[in-house]
Amino acid sequence: MENRQKIFAKRLLRWHRRNFLRFPWRETKNPYKILLAEMLLRKTTRNQVNKIFRKLVKKYPNPKALAEADTSELEGIIEPLGMQKKRSPLLIRVAGYLLEKHRGKIPMDVEELKRIPGVGEYTANAVLCLACNKPLPLVDTNTIRVVGRVFQVKSKKIRARADQNIWSFVESLLPKNKGRELNLAMLDFANIVCRPKLPKCHQCSIEDICSYPQKTPAPADE
Ligand code: SF4
Repeated sequence: MENRQKIFAKRLLRWHRRNFLRFPWRETKNPYKILLAEMLLRKTTRNQVNKIFRKLVKKYPNPKALAEADTSELEGIIEPLGMQKKRSPLLIRVAGYLLEKHRGKIPMDVEELKRIPGVGEYTANAVLCLACNKPLPLVDTNTIRVVGRVFQVKSKKIRARADQNIWSFVESLLPKNKGRELNLAMLDFANIVCRPKLPKCHQCSIEDICSYPQKTPAPADE
């Protein structure tokens, strides 16, 4: 009999084939564009980033162009995301670092990626997973919520995102050749179905294997 982890992966992948959310950084394997998107996606929504992403990569198609950016012009493009005064210098610094240390290329090694200013484990894994389909875990508040509810995997640490047990558990869910798909499926599933408030348990394709004790009942008129 299949275990719950395998059923979880299989059902989420099936659900995602019908519910894939399209964004330009998901339609590329270019690690520079993926890195840029991941840096912009912090503290803002995917829809906000979507509004400016194509313009940004057209204007700065590679690290060299970004390293030479005019700060006020860059700030103007990313202004809709907010925090442009903080984001712009960091983006320029990252591009300068890539030029100096990696001849303008993105290093495809997790430790090298984590040496880039402002890049932590999540972003490093995201670049390798989304660009090269490496089955590396992406742990954020969304994945923590989903695995917490479904498998009752809880962190004892104040910052669950820094808990290696959670990273290892999420990694154990990823099929070797479908890590990219499952990571994206979990993000979309957390956004559309297993939402922070009022999860759509009555429409959920893994309801029967989910251990969340406070499942939301179907509305009376359904
Ligand atoms: S049954 Fe509810 S809590 Fe469990 S995974 Fe589905 S939406 Fe989330």
